Amino acid sequence: MSENPVVSDKKPGPSKDSSFFSDLYDNLNQNPYFNAGAGLAGIGIAMSFLRRTAQISNTYFRRRFMINLQINNEDAAYPWLLDFINNRSATQTRNLSANTVVHQAESGKTELSISFLPGHGTHFFVHDYRWIKVERQREKQVIQRDGIRTPFETVTLTTLGSDVKFFKRMLEQSAKEAIDNAETGLVIYQAVGPQWIRFGVPRKKRDIESVILDGRICEELVEDFQEFISSATWYADRGVPYRRGYLFYGPPGTGKSSFISALASHFGYSVCLLSLSERTLDDDRLNHLLNTAPPNSVVILEDIDAAFVSREDPMSNHPAYQGLSRVTFSGLLNALDGVACAEERLTFMTTNYVERLDPALIRPGRVDRKQYFGNATDGMLSKMFSRFYRQPSDSVLADEFVKRVSEHKTELSPAMIQGHFLMYKQDPRAALDNIKNMFKTV
Ligand code: ADP
Repeated sequence: MSENPVVSDKKPGPSKDSSFFSDLYDNLNQNPYFNAGAGLAGIGIAMSFLRRTAQISNTYFRRRFMINLQINNEDAAYPWLLDFINNRSATQTRNLSANTVVHQAESGKTELSISFLPGHGTHFFVHDYRWIKVERQREKQVIQRDGIRTPFETVTLTTLGSDVKFFKRMLEQSAKEAIDNAETGLVIYQAVGPQWIRFGVPRKKRDIESVILDGRICEELVEDFQEFISSATWYADRGVPYRRGYLFYGPPGTGKSSFISALASHFGYSVCLLSLSERTLDDDRLNHLLNTAPPNSVVILEDIDAAFVSREDPMSNHPAYQGLSRVTFSGLLNALDGVACAEERLTFMTTNYVERLDPALIRPGRVDRKQYFGNATDGMLSKMFSRFYRQPSDSVLADEFVKRVSEHKTELSPAMIQGHFLMYKQDPRAALDNIKNMFKTV
């Protein structure tokens, strides 16, 4: 008997059970229908795997290399952003939506203003050397705005990059552009009973540069005002009442009132006018009004000397000054000192006769800055002439105007000079030739 191991061509097979699976496997393997199905399933699995991978890498790519900004029409910045996009994409998109506003005056005079905004859908525009994709979508929801129902909308901006500050900067720029372009005017309040009531429609703002003051007075006052309105925390930290009083004094027609209005509107403030000689004004009402001025406004107490005459002034016994106002002097001081309010308060007093004011009224705390407004100096004359007639600042005509006015050795207020120019609006030469007329009124 051979010792050689038996070589069998039978493969080392499974046991009884495993032979069942093996048979099944063989059968399925040879079955063409099953093979085709398995192939398809394999392709399906592979496809879904690829899709998933693409999705994950897309998400990863978006997170890592793209930034998004989403904003909806409930946000105040929404229209600004649309305007901003529109100003930059007008040449790149043909898909616009129009927004028409009709202004009709009581007389019936009608004006239309049509503005175009990016329409719904997808747009592209370039900002700061980057392409930005804009998707403006209208949702099914409806929102209530100023009593009007409007569809809810969103705008999504997407761009390449990882610096989120890019969109922050863009939003800030769009807000700045919108604010700069907004038609703003000077709002005037008047005291009616215990309340401040808006008086008329907002007036056109006066350019602060149009009030010509000597030397650097204008710049200094602007800096002072700016410094105060940006120091709220400084005052709060030290527990100092957040208020500032200004006194502008000098001859009439030197720009005191004009400058206050120009200064207030330059900083977006309104003005509240109050006359201390008003018969219905008493201490309580004055106190209440000074402490309830609308936010972002300055209170102007004009011609303060007319209401109170210094007790040291001989004029105080003059009958013309008796019983002019029901406000008492101590009532005014109390109202100016006020309660230590956290709200900012800016008070401007004007007078033509500073010497008539009681020193208690203008002591620091009540008046923090006094400024003299004087008659026209040579420098002011030249500036007024050049500005009015749109002449270069070193023009020969302006120099001649200054020379001729100086020869008269009489002071003129800027208001008088303005009046003279208005008589020769288009003709600077005639304004020069008729200079003597100005002095007839002095
Ligand atoms: P005040 O308050 O000093 O009496 P106003 O501000 O009422 O003077 O000025 C009266 C008019 O004169 C205004 O129309 C104003 O435009 C003009 N005016 C006065 N001062 C100036 C000035 N410094 N620069 C330009 N215009 C002036």
